[in-house]
Amino acid sequence: MTTTANDNFNDWLRDAHAMEKQAEQMLTAQAERLEHYPELRARIVQHIDETRWQHGILDEILARRGTDNSVLKDIGARLAAFGQAVGGMAASDEVVKGAMAGYVFENVEIASYTALIAAAKSVGDTATQAQLEQILEQEKAMAAWLLDHLPQITQAFLARSATPGVEAKK
Ligand code: MG
Ligand code: FE
Repeated sequence: MTTTANDNFNDWLRDAHAMEKQAEQMLTAQAERLEHYPELRARIVQHIDETRWQHGILDEILARRGTDNSVLKDIGARLAAFGQAVGGMAASDEVVKGAMAGYVFENVEIASYTALIAAAKSVGDTATQAQLEQILEQEKAMAAWLLDHLPQITQAFLARSATPGVEAKK
């Protein structure tokens, strides 16, 4: 049995659609919990807006390609478990673990869009390729921001943690 490149591409676009839904839930949970790290919170809120925009772009791509986006595949469930681990986290160091997990998630997105762009090239869908490249830039910017700020987030957490009467975890 064979599967056409277009069928594989459509499946992966649906996976990305599910991934962005999960991203929105995870980021929203993080933003709602953060209290003492306003810069991190603001960057997450910005990325929630970007994520909603990405979700809309994927809706547009799926519609243009005549692909049903209601079928959530395994990756949706896998990412849901991942998101729950992050979003529902109540660990004493959740701000640090959350920033680390966010960085991992952004890199999953970077890998996904890199593969999708290659697939768009393979099937010659240049309109979709251009839209995916725009999304990829947003994911790269978010990943870079998190990596750049992880040291200061960690140090701010450590300082708060060592101060009596100050909450550090979120
Ligand atoms: Mg995204
Ligand atoms: Fe992202």
